[in-house]
Amino acid sequence: MCTTNVFRMTHNKNMNETNNRKGKIVIISGPSGVGKSTICKEVVKRLNNVYLSVSVTTRPRDEAEVEGKDYWFISKSEFQQRIDRGLLLEYAEVFGHLYGTPAEKVEEAVQAGKTVILEIDVQGAKKVKVLYKDAVMIFIFPPTQRELAERMKLRGREDSETAEERLNGASEEIAAGWQYYDYMVINDDLHQAVSEVVQIIQQN
Ligand code: 5GP
Repeated sequence: MCTTNVFRMTHNKNMNETNNRKGKIVIISGPSGVGKSTICKEVVKRLNNVYLSVSVTTRPRDEAEVEGKDYWFISKSEFQQRIDRGLLLEYAEVFGHLYGTPAEKVEEAVQAGKTVILEIDVQGAKKVKVLYKDAVMIFIFPPTQRELAERMKLRGREDSETAEERLNGASEEIAAGWQYYDYMVINDDLHQAVSEVVQIIQQN
């Protein structure tokens, strides 16, 4: 893989293993505000036979977000029930809120031979990789830290304290990205980043 903004990592020895599952799992992670959701939604438009997983979360819904499309917004007790009933493929606490991937939908889609895209954090990604050893892990980078801060400001979803907390978490997330992920894509130009992710998925 050799386009300007894509780096193929070679440390992951499990990358070419298969485990008899029909579809494939693609994990997309990156720091808050890097544009993961936009990239995922665009990638889905460009591919056939793809399922974009919708997570459950205890985070309050932003007014621009749509229930069941961006997330399923649920209470802490509902979240706990789903954990207890084993309904989540993985879950993690991120910036003080719980986020989890509904297991059944993902498994169904994989069995149906679909490419399943999970937009989840690094903690969740590591858990999924244990279950699906051939999952393709893509990390989205901002062009610069300053650009990331600007994008978060423009998005205007968080108050300044939360935005700062998320920005501080970005460095840690990025370091984990280098360590665990198969591919790095820099989201400098959205169109190019989308094309690169599509290309990675088609090649795997
Ligand atoms: P946000 O609040 O900005 O939508 O998401 C915060 C972080 O939670 C992002 O890094 C996002 O990728 C991650 N996230 C979203 N859904 C899930 C999930 O189901 N599981 C995990 N582990 N992380 C998630």
